[in-house]
Amino acid sequence: MKENSGRVVYPGEELAVEEEFEAGENVYSKDGKLFSMVLGKLNIDKEKRRISVRPLKTTRVAKVGDIVFGRVSLVYDNVIFVNLISVESKDNVAFPLAFGIINIRNVARTYIKNLKELFKVGDIVRARIIGIKPYSIELTTAEPSLGVVKAFCSNCRAPLKPFGQFLKCLVCNSTEKRKLAKLCAEVR
Ligand SMILES: [Zn+2]
Repeated sequence: MKENSGRVVYPGEELAVEEEFEAGENVYSKDGKLFSMVLGKLNIDKEKRRISVRPLKTTRVAKVGDIVFGRVSLVYDNVIFVNLISVESKDNVAFPLAFGIINIRNVARTYIKNLKELFKVGDIVRARIIGIKPYSIELTTAEPSLGVVKAFCSNCRAPLKPFGQFLKCLVCNSTEKRKLAKLCAEVR
């Protein structure tokens, strides 16, 4: 259970168990667990053992067509999961769900055998929303300017530098591959 105060939580997100905390503002309990009612910032009062959520002021909810940034959280052969961070050049836009998925068919216009060769956990991706469903936000990176914008070395976690078609770790010298976004200014 991630309990750090200040992190953004989503409606319906599990926050804690009732044995540990009591439900404060904008928190409800169900089956012994505590959940957030709103999109907002987590607030934990350790002395009172009370957990509450301060609602975020949002101007709108993300929609199909928006370009978003997210951090890769899981990579399977055919699909990756991305924790959504923000909508490009807009503040206070809420996501209806905390994560997005990119199916292998939506990664690039060319044939891809396995996503594990092109994405790693922790990478920051720039992607476009192509569908919003009850349980998932579907994303695509099949445009030249979409894909990984920041990648970290699989060996030592140092930021990778672009090196021709590949990425190179200046710390441990390993070379890696990604589905890179062609946005030179943003690939650092
Ligand atoms: Zn390295």
